Amino acid sequence: MRPDRVVLRMVRARLSVPFENRWQRFETWTKVLVRVDTDGASGFGECTAMETPFYNYETVETAWHVLERHLAPALLGGRSPDGAWPVVNGHEEAKAAIESAVWDLRARTAGRPLCELLGGTRRPVPAAATVGIEPTVDAVVAAVARAHGAGYRRVRMKIRPGWDLVPVTAVRTALPDVMLVPDANGAYGDDDLDHLRRIADLGCHAIEQPFPHHAVEISAALQRGLPVPICLDESVKSLREAQRAVRLGSGRIINLKAGRVGGLAEAVRIHDFCRDNGVTTFVGAKYELGVGRWTNLALATLPNMTLPSDVGPADRYYLDDGVDRAVRFDEPGVVRPLAGPGIGVTPTDGVETIREIALTPASLRSAMSPVP
Ligand code: MG
Repeated sequence: MRPDRVVLRMVRARLSVPFENRWQRFETWTKVLVRVDTDGASGFGECTAMETPFYNYETVETAWHVLERHLAPALLGGRSPDGAWPVVNGHEEAKAAIESAVWDLRARTAGRPLCELLGGTRRPVPAAATVGIEPTVDAVVAAVARAHGAGYRRVRMKIRPGWDLVPVTAVRTALPDVMLVPDANGAYGDDDLDHLRRIADLGCHAIEQPFPHHAVEISAALQRGLPVPICLDESVKSLREAQRAVRLGSGRIINLKAGRVGGLAEAVRIHDFCRDNGVTTFVGAKYELGVGRWTNLALATLPNMTLPSDVGPADRYYLDDGVDRAVRFDEPGVVRPLAGPGIGVTPTDGVETIREIALTPASLRSAMSPVP
């Protein structure tokens, strides 16, 4: 299958409720969507890169550049992601966006749902929610209560130094039945081990990414003797990094994001490694619009995704998620993939287009060889 057109579209969507993580507060979210065409069929992918390089070094602008100048030309030139991606250093989120569009296209042309192509068997898929940093402790307790009341099977709450022991204690006290995971997005350092042990001791199910992505040794030091598992997110950008982290004992759960690891194929490889080595996995999200949300749901059907994944209904996050059919609860707290083909949905004009470009082999004739 040789694609004959790649369309990049940068869009901005309005959030239904503002969201704050350890770095910033959001009212809107900007994304890059990718469409790959061949013989009249189209596959769709969504880039997880954000406007700011805080979660990861990539941004929507770096992703756009790498997609336009290197990855799309490589694909249009007949290179497969497996062949071309290792040549481009890093830029996993850009790679994953176009690679997932190719997966979707393959599934659509085969007339099969994407989840089936990936090897997914789990039905239905239990959903988890993420609650951001709120202006007050009462507000965060109310937000977790709403998610729990809506049926979400697990709740991750964002923490940062100065917003941790008090809000986590308040949530645990008010809602002791909630499977709660504080997510630090790498906000703590080598001097914070005792502090993190106190947070974990509050009856949390796990503690997610306490240290910066590179600090897998200190994560292993905390995990030793800690009664709850550490969940790794930013620390795992490839199968190799997953293997190293598991070998070191840096964590016992991996939050798997195809965007963070360069695509669905690498995500499946990490999933299989975790399954074979007793490491629990689930699919994490980065405020995906509809295309990314349905792609995540397909990945979340893999057999080792034994914890609830971030695949809940889009209306919790967006006024319009930009596809013709939003993810909805099948019954409270669980969702199901569509019968396809592919991810089963088509992008709409429900989100604002900021920029769009169509690339074809002809339009690239004068370009330099994008990938050696
Ligand atoms: Mg996380």
